[in-house]
Amino acid sequence: MKLESNVSPPGIRIVASIVGAFLLALSVWTVSNRRTSLATRIDRQLSTTSTEEAKSIENEFETARSTVLLLSRNTALSRTAELEYASRSRTLAPAEQELASMLRKSSDDSLLYLQSLYTGRIAEACLINDLGHKLSRAVGSKLAKTKDISNNEAIASFFAPTMRSRAGEVFQAAPYLSDDTNTWVVGNSTPLPFLRSAKAFVHFELTLDSFANRLSFTLRSMEKAAEMQTIEIVDRKTGLVIANNRGVLFPNGTNPRKAGIYRWLAVTNNPTGLASHKGRRLSISESGHGTGNENDWLVVSSIPLTTSFFTGMNGLPVWLAVAGLLSLLLGLVASRLFVRYLTRAANIDPLTGLANRRRLNTKLSELKQSNQLLAILLIDLDRFKEVNDSYGHEVGDALLRSVGERIAEYLPASDFACRLGGDEFAILLRGNHQHDEFIAQAWNLHAQLLRPYTVEGLRLDLEASLGMAVACTNEVSGQELLHRADQAMFAAKQLHVGVEVFSSGHESAGQRRLALLGELRTAIECHELMVFFQPKMSFSSGNIHSMEALVRWQHPTRGLLSPSEFIEFAEQTSLIRPLTLEVIELTLCQIREWELAGNPMKVAVNISAVSLLDNQLIPGLLHLLKKHSCEASSLQFEITESTIMHDPEQALEMLTRINELGIEISIDDFGTGYSSLAYLTNLNAQELKIDRVFVSRMTSDRASASVVGSIIALGHTLGMRVVAEGVEDEETAEQLREAGCDVGQGFLWSRPVPAAQAFDLLNAPSQIKTLV
Ligand code: C2E
Ligand code: CA
Ligand code: CA
Repeated sequence: MKLESNVSPPGIRIVASIVGAFLLALSVWTVSNRRTSLATRIDRQLSTTSTEEAKSIENEFETARSTVLLLSRNTALSRTAELEYASRSRTLAPAEQELASMLRKSSDDSLLYLQSLYTGRIAEACLINDLGHKLSRAVGSKLAKTKDISNNEAIASFFAPTMRSRAGEVFQAAPYLSDDTNTWVVGNSTPLPFLRSAKAFVHFELTLDSFANRLSFTLRSMEKAAEMQTIEIVDRKTGLVIANNRGVLFPNGTNPRKAGIYRWLAVTNNPTGLASHKGRRLSISESGHGTGNENDWLVVSSIPLTTSFFTGMNGLPVWLAVAGLLSLLLGLVASRLFVRYLTRAANIDPLTGLANRRRLNTKLSELKQSNQLLAILLIDLDRFKEVNDSYGHEVGDALLRSVGERIAEYLPASDFACRLGGDEFAILLRGNHQHDEFIAQAWNLHAQLLRPYTVEGLRLDLEASLGMAVACTNEVSGQELLHRADQAMFAAKQLHVGVEVFSSGHESAGQRRLALLGELRTAIECHELMVFFQPKMSFSSGNIHSMEALVRWQHPTRGLLSPSEFIEFAEQTSLIRPLTLEVIELTLCQIREWELAGNPMKVAVNISAVSLLDNQLIPGLLHLLKKHSCEASSLQFEITESTIMHDPEQALEMLTRINELGIEISIDDFGTGYSSLAYLTNLNAQELKIDRVFVSRMTSDRASASVVGSIIALGHTLGMRVVAEGVEDEETAEQLREAGCDVGQGFLWSRPVPAAQAFDLLNAPSQIKTLV
């Protein structure tokens, strides 16, 4: 099997995304900049058009005033008017009549001359008397025939205001439809200045068409961007559009169009300037009207506001946008790689390079679909914690890596291995194996794992407990199989058998342990725990030297439970603390009782690592000693080697304090752990208990016998009392006595018994053997 190597995150993703976003933003900024400058240009152009055109209209009016004033000073016209006036009260002399016709010709000439000044722009020019009669008239470039001169001008809009005007004043009329020419015009009229008795005025009409033509001419002469522009002349008083660059909007005889926008303009006080209205951008200028001018006009130049989405989007911004998008695309691809990297990282155990628990879970859920025989192998290294504690975490980590490598080397590529965490590994074995072949494979792996390791120059030996569960994937779920392997592994550990295959017996034990754990807290609170006592016999006197207190749980439904069923769990949770204090209290009660009965007895209590390192232990202990009026010296603490190695410095400190209180220290299960002699000498322990593994085998196994002998010698060298536990027969007791062992403990003398029976033992030690 190949181990995964680490992959580094593609930093390119971040760079590409940043560059992409920057280029896109730059492109948007350029486009918006271009749009802003375009808008400014349009505004400028609109303003120019409207103000220029307004000015030009003003000039037009001014020219018309000057022209009509100039015309009014023509003596031919005034004399014609005078003669006509005279003719109304008397018959003109023949000379006068001749003069009149000459004058008439001369005034017609002046009118025609005017026409030539304003080619194509004048509807008619005429001389009108106080009755509204036209005395002379030119239409276009022709003189009107006398019969065509109508007499109805008295009702014309300009008539009365002009008649009221004084000489030198010009009245400029608002647009009207000229009856005679049937065109829309504005009129200019002024009274004749040099009249003696007659009253008359000259009048000429400028066509609105001429204004419209001017507007279209203005636009035509402008640059291409003005194509969409419109220029309109609006009458401020009525809001009516009078003309625009397409022509006069007052079609013959019909009402002019009334566009909403111009109504709005008409009522606005100061409508000039730039504005946006109904989808158009406008520039409005007023064409200032002089006195006597009815034409209060506004000039509006406008353009539709709908700038296209693509406006400004050419050249540079397009390239920027393309580059930005490409860069983002690159970022996206890189980010997919990144996601792949993260997924991989999430599934790999960084220490060993094997898969992790998460990957195992995925793998197990994928297996649901398949239908094959599958074995899950769970590996837990034995006493790995001690390696960590003794040599440090670096060595521990290196050892775990070596274990990972060994598993990977051993497994074929098709199999799957992962580290679940800590010193636990899981393996999925597949293929067309039979049940037995899986078991053989497990034992082979076990043998591989037991080969010595060389880590940082140290040679280390490991033991491992393997639990295996085998089932067909369509019968048992992956998680259930894992659970079963875990229970088998637990059994392997308990039984020290190396490999254990799951059977239904494990299941019930596992479930039972879980249920018990849930009930333990209440058990402590409700005093369901009790303490049994087992004597420690002095080899020299044959009497009881002391007792060991061993906890039992009187379970309401399951009966009497031994510590192996709950101590380990209690040690893994904080429950061990109240449990230890409860055992101490029960023990002190008993000590006090025996003392009062005249049988003082030292009793040993087992103290787990967690309890020993618990700050609350000593205060709790002092409180209990006081409560039960006991001497500290009546207590002994049994501490295993591994408890001390858990945190040697702190353990040492705690043990010193305990010793100072007067409580004896006994080192339990000696010979099985990794304890160093250096610590042992510093401990100030009074007692050394040889583990029963060696004691029970010493009669049959020479090696065990020599271990026992060495421990006794070591203990004595350090000034300690040596106790042998697990003495079950006379032969062993005899050998121990010969080897100089001080105290023996075991079924030979008594099993652990309830307090009442222990009391009997105290009173009649000779019965001890028979009580077994
Ligand atoms: P341990 O401290 O080594 O206790 C001795 C164990 O050996 C006891 O098992 C005892 O019944 C058993 N034993 C005694 N003589 C013989 C013998 O001749 N042959 C055999 N085969 N076994 C013998 P027990 O009572 O089941 O306790 C098991 C372990 O549980 C104890 O081992 C101790 O580590 C732990 N333990 C018991 N009580 C307490 C407690 O109150 N607190 C803590 N922390 N641990 C406790
Ligand atoms: Ca013990
Ligand atoms: Ca022991």
